[in-house]
Amino acid sequence: MGLSDTQDRIASACAAAGREASEVKLIAVSKVQPLERVEAVLGEGHRLFGENRVQEAAKKWPGLRDRFEGVTVHLIGPLQTNKARQAMALFDAIHSVDRPKLARTLARLAQEMGHCPDLFIQVNTGEEEQKAGVLPEDTDAFVENCRALDLPVKGLMCIPPVDETPSLHFALLAKMARRNGLAGLSMGMSSDFEEAIALGATHVRVGSAVFGARDYG
Ligand SMILES: *Cc1c(COP(=O)(O)O)cnc(C)c1O
Repeated sequence: MGLSDTQDRIASACAAAGREASEVKLIAVSKVQPLERVEAVLGEGHRLFGENRVQEAAKKWPGLRDRFEGVTVHLIGPLQTNKARQAMALFDAIHSVDRPKLARTLARLAQEMGHCPDLFIQVNTGEEEQKAGVLPEDTDAFVENCRALDLPVKGLMCIPPVDETPSLHFALLAKMARRNGLAGLSMGMSSDFEEAIALGATHVRVGSAVFGARDYG
């Protein structure tokens, strides 16, 4: 566990897959973690972080950005349209674009604000009722729709069902990204980032393996 151990594991997984380590970005998922742990990882030189809630990130990151140079923060959790403006100001990338209404809101705000974070489209590869994301069958049309709105779509993102082999979902996501000409693949968490790297992940979202278990107490 820890940052350097996770970096070593990423490097080994890249080597095993015949990929350059620089092809895979480690998003250290800092949600719910005590500030000391986040500061420690910043102190070790890491600069790319992930948060799943706009409110929590808004409390945490402006202060940390003042103290540490070159910080990048990605939103990896669901985004309500009424928080889109705040999210666009706070985050360098949004991994959870998952419906036409949100895409239209982001496009309107991008026009108005003159900039837009990098966007990933979340795909509900397991077609789970309770999970966010566009269905696999709707993904190509949604990518098209986002491109027509001039949104900077960089890739696809998925969170596989907990009780299924993640590799099947990673392979499906990779196939969908390829056929849509998208280079980015946001997939892989603490329990499966090595498999995700083997299947082409460009962004792994790793929380507990970097920081330790989250205490929701
Ligand atoms: C919390 C979270 C992660 C990180 O989970 P770990 O199992 O702690 O690595 C990755 N992706 C998303 C979308 C998350 O919400």
